[in-house]
Amino acid sequence: MPARKRMTRVGLGYDIHRLKRGRRLVLGGVEIPHPVGLDGHSDADVICHAVADSLLGAAGLGDIGQHFPNDDPRFRGISSLKLLSEVARLLRRSRSSIVNVDAVLMAERPKIAVHALRMRTNLAKSLGIDPSRVSVKATTNEGLGELGRGRGMAAMAVSLLESS
Ligand code: MG
Repeated sequence: MPARKRMTRVGLGYDIHRLKRGRRLVLGGVEIPHPVGLDGHSDADVICHAVADSLLGAAGLGDIGQHFPNDDPRFRGISSLKLLSEVARLLRRSRSSIVNVDAVLMAERPKIAVHALRMRTNLAKSLGIDPSRVSVKATTNEGLGELGRGRGMAAMAVSLLESS
Protein backbone atom coordinates (compact mmCIF):
# COMPACT_ATOMS: atom_id res chain seq x y z
CA MET A 1 0.00 0.00 0.00
CA PRO A 2 1.44 3.44 -0.87
CA ALA A 3 2.35 5.63 2.10
CA ARG A 4 -0.23 8.31 2.90
CA LYS A 5 0.97 11.73 1.94
CA ARG A 6 1.47 14.15 4.80
CA MET A 7 -0.99 16.96 4.59
CA THR A 8 -1.70 20.19 6.44
CA ARG A 9 -5.29 21.32 6.76
CA VAL A 10 -6.82 24.54 8.09
CA GLY A 11 -10.21 24.87 9.80
CA LEU A 12 -12.44 27.77 10.83
CA GLY A 13 -14.82 27.91 13.78
CA TYR A 14 -17.39 30.50 14.87
CA ASP A 15 -19.84 30.59 17.77
CA ILE A 16 -22.11 33.06 19.52
CA HIS A 17 -24.15 32.90 22.76
CA ARG A 18 -26.55 35.28 24.48
CA LEU A 19 -25.72 36.73 27.89
CA LYS A 20 -28.20 36.04 30.67
CA ARG A 21 -28.55 36.85 34.37
CA GLY A 22 -28.09 33.92 36.73
CA ARG A 23 -25.63 32.11 34.46
CA ARG A 24 -21.92 31.57 35.17
CA LEU A 25 -19.48 33.16 32.75
CA VAL A 26 -17.01 30.49 31.60
CA LEU A 27 -14.49 31.39 28.90
CA GLY A 28 -11.64 29.11 27.87
CA GLY A 29 -12.49 26.98 30.89
CA VAL A 30 -11.97 29.91 33.30
CA GLU A 31 -14.91 31.01 35.45
CA ILE A 32 -14.86 34.80 35.49
CA PRO A 33 -16.83 36.81 38.07
CA HIS A 34 -19.36 38.85 36.06
CA PRO A 35 -22.99 39.94 36.57
CA VAL A 36 -24.16 37.90 33.55
CA GLY A 37 -23.08 34.64 31.93
CA LEU A 38 -23.47 32.92 28.59
CA ASP A 39 -26.69 31.00 28.05
CA GLY A 40 -26.66 27.52 26.55
CA HIS A 41 -27.10 23.78 27.04
CA SER A 42 -23.51 23.17 28.16
CA ASP A 43 -21.49 25.74 30.10
CA ALA A 44 -21.81 27.80 26.87
CA ASP A 45 -18.04 28.41 26.70
CA VAL A 46 -18.03 30.24 23.38
CA ILE A 47 -14.22 30.09 23.02
CA CYS A 48 -14.10 26.30 23.48
CA HIS A 49 -16.95 25.87 21.02
CA ALA A 50 -15.28 27.97 18.31
CA VAL A 51 -12.01 26.07 18.84
CA ALA A 52 -13.79 22.69 18.69
CA ASP A 53 -15.51 23.63 15.44
CA SER A 54 -12.26 24.84 13.87
CA LEU A 55 -10.56 21.53 14.72
CA LEU A 56 -13.45 19.40 13.48
CA GLY A 57 -13.58 21.51 10.32
CA ALA A 58 -9.86 21.09 9.66
CA ALA A 59 -10.18 17.33 10.07
CA GLY A 60 -13.29 17.15 7.90
CA LEU A 61 -15.19 15.62 10.82
CA GLY A 62 -18.32 17.74 10.71
CA ASP A 63 -19.23 20.15 13.50
CA ILE A 64 -19.82 20.39 17.23
CA GLY A 65 -23.63 20.15 16.91
CA GLN A 66 -23.27 16.80 15.17
CA HIS A 67 -21.00 15.30 17.82
CA PHE A 68 -22.56 16.93 20.89
CA PRO A 69 -26.27 17.63 20.16
CA ASN A 70 -27.69 20.41 22.35
CA ASP A 71 -30.78 18.32 23.16
CA ASP A 72 -28.70 15.44 24.55
CA PRO A 73 -29.00 15.36 28.38
CA ARG A 74 -25.43 13.96 28.60
CA PHE A 75 -24.06 17.36 27.61
CA ARG A 76 -26.31 19.46 29.86
CA GLY A 77 -24.16 21.83 31.95
CA ILE A 78 -21.02 19.95 30.87
CA SER A 79 -17.64 21.69 30.91
CA SER A 80 -16.80 22.45 27.30
CA LEU A 81 -13.19 21.50 28.08
CA LYS A 82 -14.51 17.92 28.18
CA LEU A 83 -15.94 18.38 24.69
CA LEU A 84 -12.52 19.59 23.54
CA SER A 85 -10.88 16.47 25.01
CA GLU A 86 -13.36 14.37 23.03
CA VAL A 87 -12.53 16.33 19.85
CA ALA A 88 -8.82 15.69 20.52
CA ARG A 89 -9.60 11.96 20.78
CA LEU A 90 -11.40 12.06 17.41
CA LEU A 91 -8.41 13.85 15.87
CA ARG A 92 -5.97 11.25 17.17
CA ARG A 93 -8.20 8.52 15.75
CA SER A 94 -8.06 10.22 12.35
CA ARG A 95 -4.26 10.48 12.69
CA SER A 96 -4.28 14.26 12.79
CA SER A 97 -2.06 16.30 15.08
CA ILE A 98 -2.59 19.93 15.99
CA VAL A 99 0.02 22.41 14.73
CA ASN A 100 -1.63 25.44 16.34
CA VAL A 101 -4.91 27.04 17.34
CA ASP A 102 -5.70 30.77 17.35
CA ALA A 103 -8.92 32.10 18.90
CA VAL A 104 -10.43 35.56 19.29
CA LEU A 105 -13.27 36.50 21.63
CA MET A 106 -15.59 39.36 20.69
CA ALA A 107 -16.99 40.90 23.85
CA GLU A 108 -17.45 44.43 25.19
CA ARG A 109 -16.54 43.40 28.74
CA PRO A 110 -14.98 42.12 30.90
CA LYS A 111 -11.33 42.46 29.95
CA ILE A 112 -9.93 38.95 29.62
CA ALA A 113 -6.22 39.68 29.15
CA VAL A 114 -5.50 38.73 32.78
CA HIS A 115 -7.17 35.34 32.21
CA ALA A 116 -5.69 34.61 28.78
CA LEU A 117 -2.75 32.53 30.05
CA ARG A 118 -5.02 30.28 32.12
CA MET A 119 -7.36 29.90 29.14
CA ARG A 120 -4.45 28.86 26.91
CA THR A 121 -3.27 26.38 29.54
CA ASN A 122 -6.79 24.91 29.92
CA LEU A 123 -7.33 24.57 26.17
CA ALA A 124 -3.88 23.07 25.64
CA LYS A 125 -4.35 20.55 28.45
CA SER A 126 -7.71 19.39 27.08
CA LEU A 127 -6.23 19.07 23.60
CA GLY A 128 -3.06 17.34 24.83
CA ILE A 129 -0.71 19.91 23.32
CA ASP A 130 1.78 22.49 24.57
CA PRO A 131 0.27 25.90 25.53
CA SER A 132 2.72 27.53 23.10
CA ARG A 133 0.54 26.09 20.31
CA VAL A 134 -2.59 27.86 21.58
CA SER A 135 -3.40 31.58 21.33
CA VAL A 136 -6.37 33.34 22.94
CA LYS A 137 -7.07 37.02 22.53
CA ALA A 138 -10.04 39.38 22.59
CA THR A 139 -11.48 42.46 20.99
CA THR A 140 -14.53 44.61 21.66
CA ASN A 141 -17.12 45.21 18.96
CA GLU A 142 -16.60 48.98 19.33
CA GLY A 143 -20.14 49.32 20.70
CA LEU A 144 -21.61 48.25 17.36
CA GLY A 145 -24.59 45.90 17.01
CA GLU A 146 -25.95 43.42 19.56
CA LEU A 147 -22.47 42.33 20.64
CA GLY A 148 -21.55 45.97 21.11
CA ARG A 149 -24.61 46.45 23.33
CA GLY A 150 -23.41 43.56 25.47
CA ARG A 151 -26.28 41.21 24.58
CA GLY A 152 -23.91 38.34 23.87
CA MET A 153 -20.40 37.17 23.13
CA ALA A 154 -18.96 35.58 20.00
CA ALA A 155 -15.70 33.84 19.20
CA MET A 156 -13.80 32.80 16.10
CA ALA A 157 -10.96 30.32 15.85
CA VAL A 158 -8.66 28.88 13.23
CA SER A 159 -6.73 25.66 13.60
CA LEU A 160 -4.00 24.02 11.61
CA LEU A 161 -3.70 20.23 11.55
CA GLU A 162 -1.08 17.92 10.19
CA SER A 163 -2.19 14.47 9.15
CA SER A 164 0.06 11.49 8.69
MG1 MG B 1 -21.89 27.15 21.33
